[in-house]
Amino acid sequence: MEQVMKNAFLFMSKNKFLTKMAKKYGLRFGAGRFVAGETIDLATKVIQDLNKKNLKVTIDYLGEFVDTVEEANEMADHCIEAIEAIGKEKLNSQCSLKMTSMGLDISDELVLSNMRRILEAAKKNGVFVTIDMEDFTRCEKTIRIFKQLRSEYDNIGTVIQAYLYRTENDITDLNSLKPNLRLVKGAYKEPAEVAFPEKKDVDENFKKIIKMHLLNGNFTAIASHDEAMIEYTKQLVKEHNIPNDQFEFQMLYGIRTERQLELVKEGYNMRVYVPYGTDWYGYFMRRLAERPANVAFVLKGMFSK
Ligand code: FAD
Repeated sequence: MEQVMKNAFLFMSKNKFLTKMAKKYGLRFGAGRFVAGETIDLATKVIQDLNKKNLKVTIDYLGEFVDTVEEANEMADHCIEAIEAIGKEKLNSQCSLKMTSMGLDISDELVLSNMRRILEAAKKNGVFVTIDMEDFTRCEKTIRIFKQLRSEYDNIGTVIQAYLYRTENDITDLNSLKPNLRLVKGAYKEPAEVAFPEKKDVDENFKKIIKMHLLNGNFTAIASHDEAMIEYTKQLVKEHNIPNDQFEFQMLYGIRTERQLELVKEGYNMRVYVPYGTDWYGYFMRRLAERPANVAFVLKGMFSK
């Protein structure tokens, strides 16, 4: 049953009509638990509150289905607006973005020119930028673009997904760049030809790449709500005397909030991924797909309005 619901939410997350309607009618159905608001001003307030609690942030301007050059340029403008707000308000925040939002499905030239604009603004404001990883069909291209930009800028990292068979090779291949990587399990529905279908294999591979990347001496963000992965990391860093400033935990805004604060109290670096913007629908559906238990929460939100 849970698998059926997961697939249904992932299917709905790709629906263009529902995405458009959601944009038109604004943040609702309890999505505010996972999305900081529709404007940069609202997101800034949320980040200030998180920073006061010693939580670091990475901000993400949400955008789905970018089909034209104009839309991609507009997305890049929004990212620059967020980066400038981080600089102006002295927020403890990085920035995350998706290559498709920058025009990946249109042309490499477009992505590169938008990314260079963003990275220049980020450099000026002392902001680090992480390229989120999308579905498998975009993985190779994303890594190629990351390598190109990493040769030009220091303030850029990307994401590697433990569910893909190719991931161990990517970790080895990228090591020469000494990259700052965010490691995740992976959020998309991928076929068994490219990704481990069994959760236990994904978890094993996740542990393997956490160990590889940390022992290679690279900065590692462990982005997971899974206590087993957090415990594994804590043991590993203790065993190998890895300093606290070589890694951090990351979680999504609105998920395991208490645990985020506990990890800070325990002395670890904790970064919260804070999405904002009018295009909240696809992101919200993917969060429901990850944990259908949240549906009860959503239904409550629908009926209390
Ligand atoms: P899961 O295996 O989903 O959950 C394991 C356990 O964690 C659960 O059994 C439960 O005990 C606990 N848990 C999970 N959710 C909750 C909850 N809501 N409340 C209480 N306990 C809970 N994916 C990508 O493909 N590309 C990206 O660029 C990307 N960026 C990400 C950035 C961040 C900061 C984070 C945290 C995730 C990102 N993801 C990304 C999503 C990721 O790939 C997973 O889909 C997502 O994190 C769920 O996997 P998990 O490791 O949290 O654990």
